[in-house]
Amino acid sequence: MRFDFPQVELHLHLDGSFRPETVWELAEAKGVAMPAKDLAGYRDYLAATADCASVNEYLERFELPLRVMQDAAALTRITRELIWDLADRGTAYAEIRFAPQLHTREGLDQRRAVEAVLEGHRQGMAERPDIDIGILLCMMCVGPETANWEANAETVETAAEYLGRGVVGIDLAGAEGIVPLRNFAPLFRRAAELCIPFTCHAGDSPGPDTVADALDFGARRIGHGHHIYQDPALVRRAAALGVTLEICPTSNIQCKTQPSYEAHPAKNLMEMGLGVCINTDNTTLAGVTLADEYEHCVHEMGFTYEDLLTMNRCAIRASFAPIEVKERILTGLKKAAQ
Ligand SMILES: [Zn+2]
Repeated sequence: MRFDFPQVELHLHLDGSFRPETVWELAEAKGVAMPAKDLAGYRDYLAATADCASVNEYLERFELPLRVMQDAAALTRITRELIWDLADRGTAYAEIRFAPQLHTREGLDQRRAVEAVLEGHRQGMAERPDIDIGILLCMMCVGPETANWEANAETVETAAEYLGRGVVGIDLAGAEGIVPLRNFAPLFRRAAELCIPFTCHAGDSPGPDTVADALDFGARRIGHGHHIYQDPALVRRAAALGVTLEICPTSNIQCKTQPSYEAHPAKNLMEMGLGVCINTDNTTLAGVTLADEYEHCVHEMGFTYEDLLTMNRCAIRASFAPIEVKERILTGLKKAAQ
């Protein structure tokens, strides 16, 4: 099927969306041990390990790419290549997210990690004027909220510094269910004080209570959030607030947070009034493109082609893009619907 309309992706992690050949090349140059003899073997490894027992096992798979993404040149290159690849696939607007605190093992600080990604953003956007990209900075949940409070607080302040210069918002990613999500609320309150737009991972592996926490501290976009389906009253509350869920179907199945595409509640949630949009989460680690996800949507998840247009309108409205980008993409979606 051809998906001939401007595509919008809001939930995409940089460290899970690299070119395998680039990570291979950087690993060889740095002498990082790889789990395969050659690049073909590494590609097989990525495909074979796509299925995980849980979200937290899934997170372990980021370790290898992270080991080579510790200097400015690598961050710039991987960001730039991802922008090229998204543009080649027909993406009109994407928000690429990464956690600066995970790139400070070899001397970078958070600001320099952000500047390296923004350099790749600047180069990629200049080379591919057919795509617009916003960068989200992720805070991380790595254990109790006290484990890396300072680093997360620094991410919020760094986002404020670079907001409007490529950075468009923040997120909280990482392990789920270790401590209540509400423990992170002061970080989001600080973001609100600084007028930084935010989304938040919630309601993926744990039940709907994490989504309630995220709504309480003001999130109007939720990363995943599909377990809200277990609480119809919370669905009604979220719908009334105009909340958009960033749904990543294949990632949910690989992490065992949904049993199958057919059982995924995304279409039902849309019919219950929630904003829903479709994303890959990690195009390389999940082994999918947005077009692959759309195929699953129309063949296994009960969505129509028109629903895809609706979800892309929803995505760009919920995005943190400048108003002129939103208007241009909405115009393109309107033309595609005629
Ligand atoms: Zn994610």
